Amino acid sequence: MADSLLECSNLNIKFGQNHVIKNLNMHLSTGEILSILGPSGCGKTTLLRIIAGLEIPLKGNIFLKNHEIFGPNINLQPSDRNIGMIFQDYALFPHLTVEKNILFGISNLEQKMQDDNVERVQQLTRLQGLMSRYPHELSGGQQQKVAIARTLATNPTVLLMDEPFSNLDASLRLSVRMEIEQILKSSNTATIFVTHDREEAFSISDRVAIMVDGAIQQVGPPDQIYFWPNSKESAVMSGSCDFIKGSVSGGSVNTSIGPLPMRMPESFSDGDQVEVAIRQTDLSMEPTPAGKNIVVRKDFRGDETIFWVKTPREEIIRCKHKIHTTLFSGLKVQLSPVQYTKFNVFNVPSS
Ligand code: ATP
Repeated sequence: MADSLLECSNLNIKFGQNHVIKNLNMHLSTGEILSILGPSGCGKTTLLRIIAGLEIPLKGNIFLKNHEIFGPNINLQPSDRNIGMIFQDYALFPHLTVEKNILFGISNLEQKMQDDNVERVQQLTRLQGLMSRYPHELSGGQQQKVAIARTLATNPTVLLMDEPFSNLDASLRLSVRMEIEQILKSSNTATIFVTHDREEAFSISDRVAIMVDGAIQQVGPPDQIYFWPNSKESAVMSGSCDFIKGSVSGGSVNTSIGPLPMRMPESFSDGDQVEVAIRQTDLSMEPTPAGKNIVVRKDFRGDETIFWVKTPREEIIRCKHKIHTTLFSGLKVQLSPVQYTKFNVFNVPSS
């Protein structure tokens, strides 16, 4: 890949009989933020540890700036890879001040270089005024920034972040996330960050890689993944959705709630048995005594309410609406596609 900064090809790792990473391929471009989004246990942390040199794959290759750092005949030590990794718990030294924490990784440099680097990263992360504090005297968000400053001081070619916001409470997450995105973009630091939070992945990343069972299922810009998922797994990871069965007919799928227009009709033939992915905002609900669908549950969320609706085939579809007091559990409703909505459709796996 022409502008590829980091290139992983055909990576595999097993822990005992557990084949955790399977023929995995991915690349990262200069200055890019790539999120790896996947369910718990799919191998996200293991992938970061392989790239950092903390796990040795069974086979595969890793190139950094077109130099092989791992392959059949080479395995550069973690300290020689110039890859920075930030862990969930920040791993700051509790007995060192912020400044000494930052200096720790660059103590081999000349004094002038050390000073310049500390100055650069404290400005970048806006840590001025906190340099003489100890980690326990900082908020979670500030500790996170120290961890980033300490890593950026070493000028890593690539930064790896494992669930960087998971220890922050909800009120801090958004502001820290935005600040860190800005730090990464203004320092043009190519970053891979791992999460199971899709909102986080979508908002911070240039591209999102959906990882399922040790392999990258789909990679692309967030909106592409959301609107054009290439599998049921990608559809589920990229937004809440329900699936209902149907049969293809003339560019639509006949389902228990009526015909639904397909997103890529050319990929299917009439009569194909498929599953249709329905996002919570895809359908509108109209209460009517003739309605064949029944509201079975109502989740009040403040700004919106999620209604769980049972179709005549006993499928459950969740529909998101602004509060509508005339809708309640037990009500009969008609469901119809919101104007211009096209539905993603997947083949039913043959049993
Ligand atoms: P989570 O989102 O829950 O952190 P993850 O996608 O990061 O999960 P990993 O931590 O990479 O998943 O783990 C993937 C699988 O590999 C799991 O089944 C885990 O138990 C296993 N595993 C990871 N490291 C080791 C190890 N050192 N020895 C044995 N098994 C391991």
